[in-house]
Amino acid sequence: MARVDAIVLGAGIVGTSIGLHLAKRGLAVALVDRRAPGEETSYGNAGVIEGNTLFPQAFPSDPLALLRIALKRAPEANYHLTFLPQVAPWLLAFRAASTPRRLMETARAMRPLFARAIAEHEALLAEAGASRYLRRGGWLKLYRGERAFGALKGELALAQEFGIAYRALDTEAARELEPSLAPVFRHAVHWQGAVSITNPLAVTQAYAARFAALGGVVVRGDARSLHRADGHWRLDTGEGPLDAAQVVVALGPFAPDVLGPLGIRLSLGLKRGYHRHYRPAGNAALSRPVVDIENGYCLAPMEQGIRLTTGAEFAARDAPPTPVQFDRLLPAAQGLFPLGQPVETSPWMGSRPCFPDSRPVIGRAPGQDGLWLAYGHAHWGLTLGPATGRLIAEMMTGATPFCDPAPYGAERFGK
Ligand SMILES: Cc1cc2nc3c(=O)[nH]c(=O)nc-3n(C[C@H](O)[C@H](O)[C@H](O)COP(=O)(O)OP(=O)(O)OC[C@H]3O[C@@H](n4cnc5c(N)ncnc54)[C@H](O)[C@@H]3O)c2cc1C
Repeated sequence: MARVDAIVLGAGIVGTSIGLHLAKRGLAVALVDRRAPGEETSYGNAGVIEGNTLFPQAFPSDPLALLRIALKRAPEANYHLTFLPQVAPWLLAFRAASTPRRLMETARAMRPLFARAIAEHEALLAEAGASRYLRRGGWLKLYRGERAFGALKGELALAQEFGIAYRALDTEAARELEPSLAPVFRHAVHWQGAVSITNPLAVTQAYAARFAALGGVVVRGDARSLHRADGHWRLDTGEGPLDAAQVVVALGPFAPDVLGPLGIRLSLGLKRGYHRHYRPAGNAALSRPVVDIENGYCLAPMEQGIRLTTGAEFAARDAPPTPVQFDRLLPAAQGLFPLGQPVETSPWMGSRPCFPDSRPVIGRAPGQDGLWLAYGHAHWGLTLGPATGRLIAEMMTGATPFCDPAPYGAERFGK
């Protein structure tokens, strides 16, 4: 029987960062995954470390936008009709959390985590010898019409209040930064302070390698075998049972598979998303991620090519992929940037794990001694992985947390 101080379930960017932070504090840690580190959701994101982010994605308040989604014409969202009854309660809670007052609450509650996001990555990248994957230069959000740009007023005012740097640009000024973009947009905002990652998989792998170098053990196993035995938590792995007094569930969209049987049922929704890489046509190039706001996609330059990522799809996590959003957004994307041939034969798909209030759960599991939760990072798991790792490691080791963890507690759901 092997025994460690802590077992971390899930070796995505969140779990791997937690394992690394615990190992740095001298704990004996096993990081358990059924795959190799970083191969699920953390593989396929747009690579943006969004230190600038203030407001979460909101439920559409414009009836026309909703109608477009309902009619399956919207590039930014798709859904499976048969899944609607199942997701309806979550959607209603998401809508309730999308009032201006609630969005402001979330912006303020999340700020301490976002404010540390870049510095925490920088520190781990440096010690993991992986700083070459970090690209500075911010990211660029493009607005084709006045309406979408006008809707930004509140966000820009709040950015000023928090001292977050940005530049509002016209078409030509934005094209000085990114000359390969066609002038199909009228406004842009350059969030200069944000950074991006040129290969998210390689970063999680580098953090896992650093974790191992500090004595952490990466174990293949099925998290669903977690149970209580002899006053400890026990996991059955291919290498035998593994015991620990403390366990962290960092399984992203898969967390309910383990928590449900333990009686912990928090309202996690999933926004599936896709990506595909394209070779740039001719000499075209991008030097930072670019978001086409009205069409809900991002073009992110990666080592593998230009990664085109889609918005949300509401469908069962394990239902077969339906990448119809590519057909809806490709004309806009190709009109913005000269995309050449796709690199892969079919798109990648993953699921963003989202609570209705867009905040993750970071803290103790209700009613289960020694069980900790760190999941539900929605659109920001890459951004917040290392900050989450530090916060929960500080909580688990009795150190003073770098910020008040109360806004991320599971208790906010009243269970
Ligand atoms: C298209 C898209 C674009 C995105 N863009 C960005 C972005 O630009 N910036 C940003 O910050 N975020 C972005 N995100 C969100 C981000 O990718 C996720 O929030 C993040 O990857 C979640 O990480 P995680 O570690 O919680 O989950 P995961 O990476 O899914 O890790 C969970 C791990 O648990 C393992 N697991 C599951 N079940 C079991 C089991 N039974 N036993 C053992 N192991 C198990 C899985 O194999 C996996 O490795 C994007 C997401 C998508 C889909």
